[in-house]
Amino acid sequence: MIKKLRGTYDILPEEVARWQYLEKKFKEIVERYGYREIRTPVIEETGLFTRSIGETTDIVEKEMYTFQDRKGRNVTLRPEGTASIVRAYLESGIKPEILTKFYYYGDMFRYDRPQKGRYREFRQFGIEAIGSASPALDAEVISLAMYMLESAGLIELELNINSVGCSECRRIYYDKLREYIRPFASVSTGNSGTFSTARLCATCQKRMDKNPLRIFDCKEEVCRKVLEKAPVITENLCQKCASAFEEVKKYLSVLNIPFVINPRLVRGLDYYTRTAFEVVCKKIDSPQQNALVAGGRYDSLIKDLGGPDTPAVGWAMGMERILLALEILKIDLPVEEKSGLYIASLGEVAFTEAFRIADRLRRNGFKVHLSGSGKSLKSQMREADRIGAGYTLILGGDELSRGVGILRDMNSSTQREIPLANLENELKTLL
Ligand SMILES: [Zn+2]
Ligand SMILES: [Zn+2]
Repeated sequence: MIKKLRGTYDILPEEVARWQYLEKKFKEIVERYGYREIRTPVIEETGLFTRSIGETTDIVEKEMYTFQDRKGRNVTLRPEGTASIVRAYLESGIKPEILTKFYYYGDMFRYDRPQKGRYREFRQFGIEAIGSASPALDAEVISLAMYMLESAGLIELELNINSVGCSECRRIYYDKLREYIRPFASVSTGNSGTFSTARLCATCQKRMDKNPLRIFDCKEEVCRKVLEKAPVITENLCQKCASAFEEVKKYLSVLNIPFVINPRLVRGLDYYTRTAFEVVCKKIDSPQQNALVAGGRYDSLIKDLGGPDTPAVGWAMGMERILLALEILKIDLPVEEKSGLYIASLGEVAFTEAFRIADRLRRNGFKVHLSGSGKSLKSQMREADRIGAGYTLILGGDELSRGVGILRDMNSSTQREIPLANLENELKTLL
């Protein structure tokens, strides 16, 4: 028997109800904030991701599903949503001076080590607001994310924010950071050997030249230790970035949204500028799983991908993480439990009538379950129970001859006769 691939999983119908509940709720909320849905391909040219996410990021270096198609093109299953949306935005020729608000929902792929809440195929719900550099917009998208999580019933949330600056402030900051890191990086520190036990991992040694900020993303204990006293970007912002960050904080305060400034929050993707943020659920212990939403500003990405200079901000939420957090917090989503009508019938004649009635009711807007003919009443009732029908209509020869059926309320287990001719009217108030 063929089994599912490692890192993937099936969402069975009983669980799908929870997903659908969240999807519906989230869509309804983002639309209130003016976002419109965009659907982009799951597969893109590899270059789109290497150019936007960054060559030296974990995603590009080791997590992408990249392969050659039959014509030898280098293609990749999307590991995140933003790059594709920016590509679609540029290809569609939308005027950059208009603030464009997109939301998306779909599957992403990363070849990561699978664990609870972390899969190789996972689902993200995200937004992108393209065309404004206003710090108020940063606060607005953060507020939106917080509101969505709260409306899903989540508690114990903590908003972490930081500014990762712009290319200007980074140029100066990178020099400072490299200076600080140098003793921990070179193999030949020579003299006292003070740093011999605290040497950066091989990956971080490589990162030092291209994008030293990424060192803060390293999970290795030795690197974390080295970075404890490292200069942070937040304290080395240029004038413009510093005042933009102040504005973001001001607008968050206007909305009474508490936040924690986390100077080590740099995000795993290269394209972020200025505001970076994460919302974590404090009840989840694993630091690799507790971020429910992550995002930030990416003012240079659109230009980097060949478009006009257009500022933008966005975030993505991990649906698996959100559902895991709800599970850990023991929060039940108010998903509908029993619904629809099950029609049980006794004998061939009654089944034919049930078959006709089921079709008629479905066309009139009712949700109706009907199984095949030739089953005992007992097994049909069991089936009605298992699929969670709200009511069961029982049709037997005797009832049919009188033009009635027996309607059983599956919640209260009470039953009564109802005329079949008037079925729609009777059911309208019940289903
Ligand atoms: Zn700056
Ligand atoms: Zn490292």
